[in-house]
Amino acid sequence: MNQDLKDKTLDELEQIVADLGRKKYLAQYIFHFIHVEGATEVSQITPLSKAFRAQLLAQGYRISNLDILDKLTDKDGTIKYVFALDAGRIETVLLHDGQRRTLCVSTQVGCTMDCRFCATAQIPFQRNLTAAEIVDQVNIAQSDGGRISNIVYMGMGEPLANYAAVVKSLRMLNHPKGKNIGIRHITISTCGLAPAIRKLAGEAVCPRLAVSLNAPTDTLRTRLMPINAKYPIAGLLAAVRFYQSRTRQRITFEYVMIKDMNDLAEHAKTLPKLLEGVLCNVNLIEHNPYLGCEFAATSSTRIRQFASILDRAGIETTVRFRMGRGIKAACGQLGAGWLNE
Ligand code: SF4
Repeated sequence: MNQDLKDKTLDELEQIVADLGRKKYLAQYIFHFIHVEGATEVSQITPLSKAFRAQLLAQGYRISNLDILDKLTDKDGTIKYVFALDAGRIETVLLHDGQRRTLCVSTQVGCTMDCRFCATAQIPFQRNLTAAEIVDQVNIAQSDGGRISNIVYMGMGEPLANYAAVVKSLRMLNHPKGKNIGIRHITISTCGLAPAIRKLAGEAVCPRLAVSLNAPTDTLRTRLMPINAKYPIAGLLAAVRFYQSRTRQRITFEYVMIKDMNDLAEHAKTLPKLLEGVLCNVNLIEHNPYLGCEFAATSSTRIRQFASILDRAGIETTVRFRMGRGIKAACGQLGAGWLNE
C-alpha cells in the first residue's frame, strides 16, 4: 500500500485521517505543511498532536523526499538539478526570464517514445514517477531559490504516458490550499498521444497544451518520432482541436529545427495549411545534438528564414534559444550528461 503522504491529494488525506478516527479538517494541516511549508517528516507537522503524529508513523505513513545528487548552474543562469532514484536518475531544469521562474519537470525515468533527436530516448526506461516525485521537484527548486511561477512538463519522459500521476500532480500543484500555481501557468508537453489529449480535455483542471510536432508530413514525422506511426498527424490535430474547443486555450506547437530534415522552406510553407483553424503559436527550438545523434542543428540564419515564412502566413512564431546548453539542460539534452556512463 502506498503510504506516502506527499503522494496524496487533499481528498485522499481526508479519507486517511477519517479512517484513523480523527477529524477530517486535520488533513488540511498535512497538505499545507507538505506542499507549502516544505515538511519532509511527519514530525514537522506541528499543528497535529504528538499522539496523532505517532499514530501516523505507527500506521506506516511517511513523507517521501527526492535525493539531490547534483546541482549545476550554467553561465546563462539556468540551473539543473539531478536527482537519484531507486532506479536511475531524473533531471529538472530551472529557467529564469525576468520575474518569471519556470521549472521544467520530469515525469518518467527514461522514455519509451524514442524521438530520434532526444537524448532521453537513449536512456533505458526504468519507471514512471509518482505524483509525489513530480511535485517534489517543485518543492526542492522552490526551497532552493524562491517561488516557481510556471511549470512545464517537458523534462524527461512523456507526461501523458504517465497519465494518472501527472494529473494528480497537477491537482496538487494547482490546489488553493497547496502551492496554488494557476493552471494557466502549467503546461504539459506531449509527443502526440492523441487519446490522452482527448482524455485530458475532460479533466477538472486543464493545463496549457504544447505538442511536439517537428514535421508537416507523416513520412517525415514518423522518421523523427516513431509514435507518429501509431497516432498520425490528422488524428493528432483532431485531438488538439477537440482540446481547444473544450478549454478555449491557445496551443503551442514545438518544432525542433534539424538541419536539412525538417527546416526547408517547403516545410515552413506546408505548416500553416496544416494548422489552419487552430489558435496557436509555433515555437522553433534549436536542436541540441547529443553525442552520437544522427542529426545536426539548423543554422540560425535558416531558423530566422523559417520563422519569417510562418510569420508572413499569420502564425505567431517564437524561437527558443539554447538556455542551459553548457550544463546539458537544454531541450532534448536531459540525461545526455550520463549517457555514456
Ligand atoms: S522528446 Fe520527450 S517524448 Fe520524445 S523521447 Fe524525448 S522525452 Fe520522450
